[in-house]
Amino acid sequence: MTELTERSAVPAPPVAVEPPPIAPPAQLPEAGELLPWPELEAAVAACRRCRLCETRTHTVFGRGRPGARWLLVGEAPGENEDRQGLAFVGRAGQLLDNMLASIGLDSETDVFITNVLKCRPPGNRNPAGDEIAACQGYLLQQIAHLKPTLIIALGRFAAQTLLQNSDSIARLRGKVHRYHDIPLIVSFHPAYLLRNLPDKAKAWQDLVLALRTQRALEQTH
Ligand code: URA
Repeated sequence: MTELTERSAVPAPPVAVEPPPIAPPAQLPEAGELLPWPELEAAVAACRRCRLCETRTHTVFGRGRPGARWLLVGEAPGENEDRQGLAFVGRAGQLLDNMLASIGLDSETDVFITNVLKCRPPGNRNPAGDEIAACQGYLLQQIAHLKPTLIIALGRFAAQTLLQNSDSIARLRGKVHRYHDIPLIVSFHPAYLLRNLPDKAKAWQDLVLALRTQRALEQTH
């Protein structure tokens, strides 16, 4: 099944995401290599590392609480996000907020939500490999700062980029993967769910798996 995102005017072709030309480093940046959080946010706001800086209105660093335990990663800002400079603020974001609320989580305080790309690709096209490579340092720095206990990849694009593979969402869901040793769970992109309401039950199961994984972690620590 082809996954849609809110950013897509037409269904995305069922092709695998090209892996970024630069493979992610084996380790997250060490504390000494990290920009302080406000400086990281400022660096993203001023970024000119790829062509997306020419067409963006705002960069989108993320939203939520930087100290939150869970990190949710989407694909790239859409039109609303580009206009407001915040992640997942359109209809897909409302659905995401409601789904998090259904498991007792507040999207402003219990999670941090960001994207693989911090700028909107024009016309909502798929991110290109060189754009992902140019942006990946920001996500790595965010993860190194946040030290999330759990990551949820929202949609095929985030999942394939973080896990460096081309597997379908169907294959990736329902398992606990690892990203730099952090448990990572794959779920549907909320914009896809807006168009495929029956799959909301499966997305809810993904959140329940995330909760169970979190509880298991707490019991072992
Ligand atoms: N889709 C995404 O992947 N991220 C957003 O922030 C909004 C829509």
